[in-house]
Amino acid sequence: MTDEELRTEVRAWLAANWKNDLPARADQWTVGPEQRAWLAKVVEARWAVNRWPSEWCGRDLSDAQAKIIEREFAAVKAPGAGQDRTHLYAITALTFGTDVMKAALLKGMLTGEINMCLLYSEPGAGSDLAGIRTRATRDGEEFVVNGQKVWTSGAATADYGMLIARTDWDVPKHNGISFFFLSMKQPGVEVRPLRQVTDESHFNEVFITDARVSADFLLGGLNNGWRVLQTALAYERSVMGDGARGPRRAGDGAANDLVALAREAGKLDDPVLRQDLAKVLSYRRLNALNNARAKADLAQGTSSSIMSLGKLAMSRILHEEARLRTALLGAGSLLDGEAFPRADDANFLTLNAYFTSIGGGTDQIQRNIIGERVLSLPKEPEIDRTIPFRDVRAG
Ligand SMILES: Cc1cc2nc3c(=O)[nH]c(=O)nc-3n(C[C@H](O)[C@H](O)[C@H](O)COP(=O)(O)OP(=O)(O)OC[C@H]3O[C@@H](n4cnc5c(N)ncnc54)[C@H](O)[C@@H]3O)c2cc1C
Repeated sequence: MTDEELRTEVRAWLAANWKNDLPARADQWTVGPEQRAWLAKVVEARWAVNRWPSEWCGRDLSDAQAKIIEREFAAVKAPGAGQDRTHLYAITALTFGTDVMKAALLKGMLTGEINMCLLYSEPGAGSDLAGIRTRATRDGEEFVVNGQKVWTSGAATADYGMLIARTDWDVPKHNGISFFFLSMKQPGVEVRPLRQVTDESHFNEVFITDARVSADFLLGGLNNGWRVLQTALAYERSVMGDGARGPRRAGDGAANDLVALAREAGKLDDPVLRQDLAKVLSYRRLNALNNARAKADLAQGTSSSIMSLGKLAMSRILHEEARLRTALLGAGSLLDGEAFPRADDANFLTLNAYFTSIGGGTDQIQRNIIGERVLSLPKEPEIDRTIPFRDVRAG
């Protein structure tokens, strides 16, 4: 099919099907019934993951042709296309999952029927994820999982979690980890919500006691979980490097726009604030270009360390933007709550900036990755890297 034929087909399909009347999503963890119905249509018509093989909901298209489709969807503000670039869980499943698992879960993930979460961090293993102690023990065609996870965003509504668990204690720590899709809806999985500094409650503790997972839901093979995790983390960083949540109140375009805020505050002529404005807007543009470069690497199948640069930059941008918002509002930023939406936004964004500088790997860890893998600096000393994990001392 030529580019023009493809464009005509997608335009005609959107004209016939897209009404632009979807309500806004209630939150980022779940997809409402109206969105699910729309996404199911998009998946059924094979517009959701155009670079993927036709066997798995795709069209085997080149990147250039897939972008034609995504541009047409974007032009009419229709969601659902381009999930082969953005759906972290589905991408990981497609890349490393067994055919049984892909047949069971891929479509449901793309339509929003199946909600997901990340079961990585533990009370004793966050930055040092290779130190996890949750164990998965083989029992016939299944694994039995025991342990505790923490900071698990979206766990309360998740149907499955991408789980890393230790499957071999007699090899060095990176070599004995496996990667699973664990069903969250089973008796052995208990989710307890945690309260965040923003007064929201998106993340949770997850206690896992004799939970079961089929060997068909093991990704990338036994004890190969570290490799799967590196690719999944790179995708996560690319998503976090691309953007972040805006103000708490959805649809508040003016507050979302720093220039508009500066104008509203009568500070557009302040030379220092103008410099700051130009700086954050230029950083955003540069970061978008950097992320496009990193994604091109990922499309070749490499887990790009440049993603770390994008995520670190986004973290700095978000803190800078929040600081600038506060400066633009001046003493007014001391106000808070529904009655003072501009101040409430500034305060929320100031606190929420830490989401990006901690979640998905802290700023310090991104700096380590950049130092070692981008700048080829000597590795940090790691005394437990080569000894069997069983012999590693836990504090
Ligand atoms: C909003 C949010 C959402 C999250 N969602 C999830 C989720 O869905 N699933 C999940 O599994 N986890 C999630 N996390 C957890 C997150 O991945 C961890 O908090 C993060 O990796 C840091 O781990 P830690 O909290 O154990 O801190 P630690 O690893 O204990 O780090 C403490 C401090 O020491 C520094 N540090 C540690 N090691 C080094 C080093 N080698 N060099 C330099 N500095 C170092 C860190 O940068 C940090 O400042 C989320 C976190 C946040 C904030």
